[in-house]
Amino acid sequence: MPVDATPPDPEAQRGGAPRELDPLEHQGERAREVSLRPGCFDDFIGQERIKDNLRIAVQAAKLRGDPLPHVLLCGPPGLGKTTLSMILAAERGVSLHLASGPAIEHKGQLAALLTRLEPCDVLFIDEIHRLTAVVEENLYTAVEDFRIDIVNGEGAYAQTLQLPLHPFTLVGATTRTALLTNPMRSRFGYDARLDYYPPEHLAQIVTRSAARLGVAISPEGAEELARRARGTPRIVNRLLHRARDFATVLGDGRVDGASAREALDRLDIDAIGLDEMDRRYLTTLIDFYGGGPVGIETLAAALSEPRDTLEDVYEPYLLQQGLLARTARGRVATERAFDHLGRPQPRGQARLL
Ligand code: ADP
Repeated sequence: MPVDATPPDPEAQRGGAPRELDPLEHQGERAREVSLRPGCFDDFIGQERIKDNLRIAVQAAKLRGDPLPHVLLCGPPGLGKTTLSMILAAERGVSLHLASGPAIEHKGQLAALLTRLEPCDVLFIDEIHRLTAVVEENLYTAVEDFRIDIVNGEGAYAQTLQLPLHPFTLVGATTRTALLTNPMRSRFGYDARLDYYPPEHLAQIVTRSAARLGVAISPEGAEELARRARGTPRIVNRLLHRARDFATVLGDGRVDGASAREALDRLDIDAIGLDEMDRRYLTTLIDFYGGGPVGIETLAAALSEPRDTLEDVYEPYLLQQGLLARTARGRVATERAFDHLGRPQPRGQARLL
């Protein structure tokens, strides 16, 4: 079941899950992303080790007629967790059901989702670390024994009914492995951590996306976008759309090195891919707090951003680029961060970095 060849929402085929359970709907990017989403392992660029392991798991499950093992996908937003879950379902030849942790508010909603699954179907739960404790506990019996317990009545008259489920596969996605409980994590047969993509893989992704959108792009244009996309496929695709706009209005419609650079400069994305918010994070840390250490709550208040957004979206890339360090006493800007922002290195201070 190639996902790109199916309606955008696999649930639509089955009469529909609650609409609030669609994680991409809220981001307003669904339609655009669907058209660029790879539909099979061969089109999914990079992350070779994870892909190889999942390929084998799919082949084994198909040969035995079993569901796939439960899979946990970890990593920052935009690296391909949803896409991989779609590919897993497509390659296994079953339906995918999309849900999101915070949207499953009570056990009844979980039961509704689970009882709708056909044999071997894939249930994808985004932000699985944000499930409530009650929902999570009920998920344990569902993934282990393929049943859900329903309590009927109250007090002394309460009866527990065991509702059998079809064997299915849970694919959990999380941006924050540390927030996942150990019992939940131990339920997964395969645990994959997606890394930021190197520029050469992002260049391949953006070249492929350009071809699908019918946009002419030169290798130099692709490299420029790839270098400045924070290691993230979703961002490189977004930059392609913006670069195309600039190339259409200001040039001949072709994204080459010059038009890509022009677009990125106008979007305030710097040479190593930091956007305005990344730089605001670092300048606040350096200019207001002498480069740190400073607590995350203090930074969140100073930047007027939720702590979760800083930890999930901004910090992973700054850490990976060696611009930021997390210490027991708080966040610290590294020498590289001072250099990158053109700030003099602090002197006479016992800095760790
Ligand atoms: P996540 O679920 O991790 O936030 P998604 O799976 O929604 O990320 O991926 C975002 C977009 O990036 C997708 O629409 C897809 O087009 C693209 N993408 C992600 N990973 C890859 C990849 N390895 N190869 C090609 N495109 C990718």
